[in-house]
Amino acid sequence: MSTTDCIFCKIVAGEIPSTTVVETENVIAFRDIAPKAPVHVLVASKQHVPNVAAAAREIPEVLAEMAQVAQQIADAECDGEYRLIFNTGPAAGQTVFHVHGHVMNGGALGWDA
Ligand code: 5GP
Ligand code: ZN
Repeated sequence: MSTTDCIFCKIVAGEIPSTTVVETENVIAFRDIAPKAPVHVLVASKQHVPNVAAAAREIPEVLAEMAQVAQQIADAECDGEYRLIFNTGPAAGQTVFHVHGHVMNGGALGWDA
């Protein structure tokens, strides 16, 4: 299932370009277009669900795979250590309503001060 006006569904479909880092049957990981850390990769389900709670409810096995892919990226890019952030809701900074985790590391992040 996809939604026609969802930018991440378009990335999954290959309709807009992205730099893919890892792809599996159910998950795609690609570099954030506006990175906020030296390592900043987005891990998304291929199926459209709006947020992490919906993913946990509707596709828990895919959410678990997203966590495994996040670890795989961090193993390759930042010694296996990382933050995995799911912004949930506009007031928490979510701007794309297709579940994705931000895999971030490679230096001090904004809230470390
Ligand atoms: P959110 O704010 O929903 O947690 O995260 C959305 C993220 O998607 C942002 O960090 C933003 O930079 C990224 N983003 C938005 N549009 C695109 C795009 O077309 N391609 C890629 N690679 N990242 C995008
Ligand atoms: Zn979508």
